Amino acid sequence: MPKQILPSHEELAWFTQVLIRRGFRPVSMVEFRKVFERLVIIPPTPRIGRELGFTFSANGLEVVVWTTFVPEAGKARDQDAGWILIKEGDQVKYFARPVHRTKHYVHRLAWLACIARLRVLDRPTCPSCGAYMDIAMGEVVKSRYWRCRNRVHKQINLPWDINLPVEAKRYLERIRSARRRYRDTLRREGRDEVVIPAVFKRRGWTVGKSENLKR
Ligand SMILES: [Zn+2]
Repeated sequence: MPKQILPSHEELAWFTQVLIRRGFRPVSMVEFRKVFERLVIIPPTPRIGRELGFTFSANGLEVVVWTTFVPEAGKARDQDAGWILIKEGDQVKYFARPVHRTKHYVHRLAWLACIARLRVLDRPTCPSCGAYMDIAMGEVVKSRYWRCRNRVHKQINLPWDINLPVEAKRYLERIRSARRRYRDTLRREGRDEVVIPAVFKRRGWTVGKSENLKR
């Protein structure tokens, strides 16, 4: 894996501005403490300081962005990659692929945060009954689609990227094809066994009080 870099103050200021302008707000200390009180979350390794996170809510869904950056320490977590997820209550419906802290880290995290925001902001409604559609898991690891949970009609699914603007689709296509090329290279070199989907090696936090999870 390429060397991890630390985003500069300018990059973080730019990132913060991009997100704030689009209606994200920083996850506050109070909220952070509530999650710990309610769920007794235990990190895999002891952590000092609080990581800078942003949240955006619309249409009953919430986007959360974790930057790995710890402002009070003036540094980032050692090994973590940045994360973007979409939640409904406490249920994580979607984890974007982790963003590693390589050269384009801040830029890529901003793009993916904005794309997740657009998914939530333009959450599709069912073409048949008009209800909000839900995020459902596809058969391929990490794949998602929109599904109507209403059973008064036959099952209706819509593609995950359905309401994204053209620029967002283009950006996703660029990173998806880069990923395909990377995978093909590994396969040609007989190294494909090292590609473990990040979904299986997530941070490893445990929830001490799962009865308090909000569904
Ligand atoms: Zn429906």
